[in-house]
Order: sequence, then structure tokens, then C-alpha cells
Amino acid sequence: MNPDQAYAELVRLSRDETVLASCLDVLDWDEEVCMPRGGVEHRAQQMALLAGLVHDRQTDPRYDDLLSTVEASSLVSDPESPQAVNVRELRRGFDRERRMPRKLVEESARVTALASQKWAEARKRDDVKIFVPWLDRIFALAREEADAVGYAETRYDALLDDYEPGMTTDRLSALFAHLQAQLLPLVDSLRGEPTPAPGHVLAREFPIDRQRLFAEGVAAALGFDLECGRFDIGQHPFCTSIGPGDVRVALRYYPRNFTRGFFALMHEVGHALYDQGLDPAHYGTPIGEAASLGLHESQSRLWENLVGRSHGFWRHFFPQLRSVFHEALHDVSLETFRGVINHVGPSILRVQADEVTYDVHIMIRFELERALLAGDLRGAELPGAWAELYQRYLGITPDNDRNGCLQDGHWSEGLIGYFPTYTLGNVYAAQLFDAAERAVGPLDESFAAGDFRPLRAWLGEHVYRHGQRYRVDAIIKRATGSAPDPSALIASLSRRYGSAR
Ligand code: ZN
Repeated sequence: MNPDQAYAELVRLSRDETVLASCLDVLDWDEEVCMPRGGVEHRAQQMALLAGLVHDRQTDPRYDDLLSTVEASSLVSDPESPQAVNVRELRRGFDRERRMPRKLVEESARVTALASQKWAEARKRDDVKIFVPWLDRIFALAREEADAVGYAETRYDALLDDYEPGMTTDRLSALFAHLQAQLLPLVDSLRGEPTPAPGHVLAREFPIDRQRLFAEGVAAALGFDLECGRFDIGQHPFCTSIGPGDVRVALRYYPRNFTRGFFALMHEVGHALYDQGLDPAHYGTPIGEAASLGLHESQSRLWENLVGRSHGFWRHFFPQLRSVFHEALHDVSLETFRGVINHVGPSILRVQADEVTYDVHIMIRFELERALLAGDLRGAELPGAWAELYQRYLGITPDNDRNGCLQDGHWSEGLIGYFPTYTLGNVYAAQLFDAAERAVGPLDESFAAGDFRPLRAWLGEHVYRHGQRYRVDAIIKRATGSAPDPSALIASLSRRYGSAR
């Protein structure tokens, strides 16, 4: 087979595998949005079988020969060409997958499907003991996975690399140390700052059907394409890309907590804009896919915080908001409203954390999951360790496990090494937003005019359209002029929330 034929065959294999894997995404979406509780055992079987089939495709021995043929040809001589990028990333994925025994892949899919239900049950009953044995099983499987795929320094590197290619535990620890040194003093200085306005404004009644209409209207104004996407009500907010032309966002609204539902929408729409901005012509190959979870998260955090909490954004949307929720907001000014939504204070729940304390929640999880993976911490010891770190860093202790170590479902789904990508997202978002403003001028003015195109176009040009053409570090460097660095995030938070604000 000549290199051109080999490359065409590689693309075909990669597309087929992606299409098959996207069936898992539909099942996942269905489980969150539609499936009755009684379907859980059957769904676990479906997921395990499909995960096994996807794994078979990913480890198809033909990949090795085809990749070798193309790797030795002139097709890959330009490292930025789709051919070279796809071959580089397919090789990386293939080498990782073929080291994973099929039994381990199926066992992980089966255990995590059941563990997620045990986690939900433990949370519902506030009884961590229901979940502890499953947590230990999941970390044991993660150790097996790390040992199977291999790593340079520590098992955590092997897991992290799956979400954030090229990132290492050492580099991440240094980044967190830098962030911690500057963030904790800022958190301390804001602690006890009086609420700038009556907090009860947001605890007023915001009817859910109107929240939904308002939020979906905002999403359309930001550029979410409703012809190629949809909104549903789910158990948790999430965004999933089923394929070109089908990007789905699930949300949940709360009648007396407007901000929780609304900022979740801003977050998920940020993810969706990235997915909708990928090049559909390259669907099913790495150059048509997002570069990393951290970069994906940078898009959600950018729209959620740097757009959704800005003055310009609410100058545009607040009059509309006030007329939709007249009873709740008729006596509230724009400035009062912004003061309330941007109030900083330690919170027990990550998903309700303000922008300043958010990364402290991630630091805590980064520390705990490394200890769990290393075997230095056992599942049964997690609640105590969790409470201790919340007290140390945020000065608060959860009053139960439901709001403590059971608050996030990530570990129950086998997502270990995933939490740090949230902080990487915040780091990249601050750098990208600064660079966009340097390039297109003050964004607050365009937001105030209801115009989000300049920002979206800049992100499309510098982030979306590249897919995996470059590794994340290179995407950030090319877009912003600097390597990933938390300084822009610290500067942005200090500027907007610090005492000199
Ligand atoms: Zn996200």
C-alpha cells in the first residue's frame, strides 16, 4: 500500500472509531436526561459492550502498519499539515490504548457505571460508607491503568496525560504552588468583606420556565447555533458533542437560585461554542477535535466569568433581565445586581464557588486524589482529610459528607487527574482574554452593545479552528505570546476583586 492509500485508510478507521464512540456519548446523554432509574443495570451492560468495541477499533493492529507506512513518507514532512498532525496524535492514542488490556477497559466501564449510581445513592442518603468501597475499587483500577500505559515519574502522570497531553505532575505542582502563594492571600484579604448588597435579591423567586427562556436567548446572542444544538434539563449541567451539527447542553434551574442555573448555562455554552467552532471537514480525526480538557475548560470559564460577570455584559442584558423578572428585580439597580453576583466568600461547594476561591477547591482535590492514587489515603479516611483541608485553606468545614467529599461525581466516573484541568482552564482563559483584548480592543464596549462576534471570531481564529494542530502549550504561546502561566489569572482576579478595585 502506498502512503496516500495508507493515510486514506487511517482516516477511515479513525472516523469509524469516532462514530462508534459517539454512540457512547448518546447513551451517556440519555442516562443523564431521559433514562429511568430502573435502566441502570442494562445501561451498564450497553456501555461496557460498546466501550469494548471502541477499544477493539482503537487497537486494530492495522493501525500500526498504516501509521508506520505514513510516518516513513513525505506526507508528514510539514508538522502542521493535517496529515502530520493526525498521524502524530493517532500514534499517541494507539500506543496508549494498545497497552490497555481489554479486560481492564470493560471492567472500568462496568465499575464506573455502577459506582456512579452508588455515589448518587450515598449522596442522597448522606452516607459515605455506601460509596467508600467503590471509591477504593476505582482508584485500584486507576493504578492498574497507569501501570498498563506507563509513566515517567509517577502514576498520576499517566492519568493526567490522557486529559492534558504533555502536562506532568511536576509542572502542575509548580503551577499550583505559584497560584497558591498569591491566591490564598487574596482570598484572606476578601474574607469577611461585607456583602456589598442584600444577598437575598437572588434568593427571590425566579420562575424556572422564564429562567430557561431568558438563558436560551442569551445563548443564542452569544452565538450558540440552535440549528446544530439543543438544550435540555438534566440531573447536572453538561455539554456533549455527539457529532457535527449536534452539540447538546443539559442544564438545571433553581427557582430561588438564579445565578446557579444561569452561570452553568454560560459555562456550558462556552464549551459548546468551542465544539461548534471545530472544523466539521476534519470530524473524526485529531485535527478536528479539541486540543485538551484544560483548553476546553478555558472556553467555558472565559464565557462564564470574563464575559458573564463583566460590566458590559450586564449593561446589555440587565434591562431585559429586569423586565423578565420584574417582581424579583424591580427595585434592584445594575450596580447592586453586579455586586451580588460577584460577591466573594468561601463556600463549601465547588460548583457554587466564586471566581476567586474556585481554584482553592481544585487545589484541595489535586492534593487528595494524588494521595488516594498513591495509596497514602484510603477511601474511609477521605471525609476527615477533606474536612481538614477545607478548614486549612478556606476556614470552613462541611457539616455533612453530602456537601463534603460526596459533592462531585468525577471520581465515581473514574475521572482521576481531571480536576486540575479546571484550574488550567482558568489560567488559559485569563491569558486568552487579555490577548483578545490586545488584538481587538476593549471587549466590554462590544459586550455592552450586545456584540459578541469580535471575541468569538478571535477565539475561532486562535483556538477553535486549530483542533489539535498544536499541543496546548503551543496554542497558548501562539495566541498570547507567553507559555501557560498563572500570572494573568492572578492579575485579572486582583484587578477585578482586590481591594484596589
Ligand atoms: Zn466545564
